[in-house]
This record gives sequence, structure tokens and C-alpha cells, in this order.
Amino acid sequence: MFEIATKVHDETRQGEAFAPFALDANVYTRFFYIESYGCQMNFSDSEIVASILGENGFGATRNVEEADLILLNTCSIREKAEQTVRKRLTEFRKLKKQRPQMLVGVLGCMAERLKAKFLEEERLVDLVVGPDAYRSLPHLIEEADSGQKGVNVLLSRDETYGDIAPVRLNSNGVTAFVSIMRGCNNMCSFCVVPFTRGRERSRNAESIIRECKDLYASGYKEVTLLGQNVDSYYYVPEADGKPVTFAMLLEQVALVSPQMRVRFSTSHPKDITDDVLFTMAKYENICKYIHLPLQSGSTRVLQLMNRSYTREWYMAKVARIKEIMPDCALSSDVIAGFCTETEEDHQDTLRMMAYSQYDYSYMFFYSERPGTLAQRRYADDIPEAVKKKRLQEIVDLQGKLSRESNQRDVGKTFKVLIEGVSKKSDAHWMGRNSQNKVIVFAKGSYALQTGDYVTVIVTGYTQATLLGEIKS
Ligand code: SAM
Ligand code: SF4
Repeated sequence: MFEIATKVHDETRQGEAFAPFALDANVYTRFFYIESYGCQMNFSDSEIVASILGENGFGATRNVEEADLILLNTCSIREKAEQTVRKRLTEFRKLKKQRPQMLVGVLGCMAERLKAKFLEEERLVDLVVGPDAYRSLPHLIEEADSGQKGVNVLLSRDETYGDIAPVRLNSNGVTAFVSIMRGCNNMCSFCVVPFTRGRERSRNAESIIRECKDLYASGYKEVTLLGQNVDSYYYVPEADGKPVTFAMLLEQVALVSPQMRVRFSTSHPKDITDDVLFTMAKYENICKYIHLPLQSGSTRVLQLMNRSYTREWYMAKVARIKEIMPDCALSSDVIAGFCTETEEDHQDTLRMMAYSQYDYSYMFFYSERPGTLAQRRYADDIPEAVKKKRLQEIVDLQGKLSRESNQRDVGKTFKVLIEGVSKKSDAHWMGRNSQNKVIVFAKGSYALQTGDYVTVIVTGYTQATLLGEIKS
């Protein structure tokens, strides 16, 4: 069980290894060990990889010592993420010296960028497989078994893995992620994703609905629809040629069952439409929570970032959300110290955070990424000490906003979906409200179980968690 928010990039899960498949009766002769880094898309992709490997005779293990195949599903978003993976690979190289038959592979976003370095220069790995090439894994493993290097980093214009049923690993059995699109066409100047994950493409709507129905039938009570920019989801079925927009998809998923909650991540502020907002408002089971990354509060910096909205435009979007759904929670991504950022620009970011009253934010200092528009066009000219100081101010302000938001919830009642037993106490449940806030409350004498809904009154809070009592 994890007492964590549905995070785009969750620090507590970085490098997490998957547990063996639950209730898996197959007998395997070979085992794979996989660690995932980066955003939720990568964790979701690891479930697709697990499915492909499972079909090909590999069982999952959490014990690196018994693995025949070690995989790292990597992230390139910031330099630190890449350094962590590099360190892990060096550790695995030592293991490989003792067990030369064992294969080590790099998957995901670092694959394309660093394949030559990993394979030839540093000789760290046997396999390098990009995010669109996981179907070729069994073949590449065969090649690597025979002593060649297995490499496929080709990006695709149409791969969505729509027909592959992901193996739900490390699942709490209540909440699941469903990938609805891949890649990104936005070209934000700081971001490496369009280069590492390729062009945007939307998954077949029918296969998404089928997956959500299957999840509900297996006891899941919440799905989070995943994509770098879910609001630009657009799928045209061959059968009738009638396009499915994100608002339409959201409605169809909400209709799977009123008992199944629907969340989504991430929304680009320029793409979230009134249609989406009205659909959210119409269905109680679509959670009232939007992750709407701001990045910067200064129009000048936003322009350099190629975000295609201004400060005023973003403010109007926040106002519209609150107008249509007054109870909707908001979270954000914020970058401190982007190229040329002045103190005034930074103050604009702080003012915008205060205006938007984010319940939560993911906060980073700018990390220049090779090949991005910003790296080619602008100097990374903000000294590290200034970046860190500004980031600290952003973190401090968010801490204050989160506390104030929690304080406003004291005395309110919420419908909470129980996700599991609290990590800190067996006598307490942990669950989440529609606004995505974690609530911990005493089990009492009620006959409740994981996956049940319960009404909870908030009685207090800590920095990251609401505390409550079951309302009888
Ligand atoms: N697609 C999402 C969006 O547009 O908001 C998020 C994608 S990215 C995986 C998650 C976050 O990482 C971004 O919103 C941004 O704040 C941060 N990020 C991306 N590139 C960065 C960089 N070069 N330096 C620091 N933070 C970065
Ligand atoms: Fe990166 Fe921008 Fe695409 Fe998000 S929308 S993945 S920040 S390019």
C-alpha cells in the first residue's frame, strides 16, 4: 500500500522494483527484475513490458540476485534522473561480472539518447529498448542471449500498445492507471519528452473502455487516464469515422460504473476545454481535481518556454474551473530559474501560485536537457544558487498554500475511497477524497474493507494528510 498522492512524478516510488505477479500459477524458468524511474507513464509502461515478458516465459522477481534479466525503465526529464540510473547500471555491472549469463537492459527515455554510450563506450548493458519498441523485447533478448547487443530505439507514429493488457504490479487492487495516449507534440522548450517519446498518438477508445470495464470487473474502483497531454486526445474509429475527443472519452469511462472513480493526468492549460469541465461537473464519479502545470507565472518566460498561454490566459482558465466546479482542487508543476528569469519573473510565479491556490505542486529547478529548444537557443544563465533560492521560496509558499487548503477542509465531510491500511497504524484506514487528498481515519468497529466508500469528517491535518473520523 502506498500513502501517496496520484503523482505525475512521485519521488517516493523512484527506482521501485515490481513484485511478482499476484495469483500467477505459471512456472517460470527465467526471471526479470524491473526498476522504474520518472513519470507515471513509465510505471505504466513497465506493466506493459511485464505483460510482454510474462507471455514469453519470464516471471517477475523483486530479488535482483535471482534475476536472469535486469531492466531499468529510465527517465531523462532532469539530469539528476539520468545520474541515478547511471549509478544503478554501474552497480549491476558488478553483479554481471559474477553472473555473466545475466542480461542488463535499459528501457524508456534514456534509450535513444544514450544508446551508443551505454553499449559501446561504457559497455554497461546488453539491451537498449526505446518506449515504442517493447514488442520487440523477446526477439532482442534472444539476440542478447546469443552474445549480440539487442537494440531497438525506433519511435513510432502509431504504437499505443492498445491491445496489450498490462500486468498490474504492486497494485493495491483499488486504483489503476490506464494509458490513453503516447508522445507529445507540444515542444515546450525545456522539455525532452517530444524527443524521447516521439509524436503524439491516441489509443483506440474502445480498447480503453474495455480495459476500464475489465478493471471494474476485477474489483478496481478508480482509474487514472494517463498521457502527457490528455486534453488533446483525439481518436477517429475506422468503423464510423466519428472522432472521439477527450471530453467524450471521459464521459464514456465515467459511464462504466458510477461506483468507479475517474481521474486524469496531465492537462495542458492551453488544451483543457469547457466541454471537459462540464463533463467533469456532470458526473459525480469524475474526480474534482485537475493537474494544470503552470511552469512559470511570467508571460515573458512562458513565451520562451513555448507554453502558448499568457499569465492572464492561465488566470482566466483557473477562474473558469472554479466557476464551473467550485470544489475542484488544483495542482501544478513549477520550474524555478529558467533561462533569463529575473527576480520580477520569479515574483510573478509566486503571485500566480497564490492566485491559483494550488493544493499541491511538483517543484523543480531548471535542468538544461541536451537537444531541447532551450538548450539550442538560450543560455542556462541563472546561477545554481539563485535557482535553489527561488525554488526554496516556491516550496515554502506551496507548503503554506497546502496547509491553508487543509485548514479549510477541517469540519467538512468527504466521500472517501479506502485504498488500504495506513502505513503508520493498522487501526487506521487510508483513502482519498475526490480532490485527491489523502485522508487517514480510525477503522473503529465498522465492517469496512479496501475498495469501500465511506463518509469521513475532517478533524485535523498534517502537512500532506487530512485526519478524520468516520461519520456514522
Ligand atoms: N506533460 C506534462 C505537462 O505538460 O505539464 C508534464 C511532463 S514532464 C514529465 C513533468 C514536469 O517536469 C513538467 O511539467 C516540468 O515542470 C518538469 N520539467 C520538464 N523538463 C524540465 C527541465 N528541463 N527542467 C526542470 N523541470 C522540467
Ligand atoms: Fe513536455 Fe510540454 Fe509535452 Fe509536457 S506538454 S511533455 S512539458 S513538451
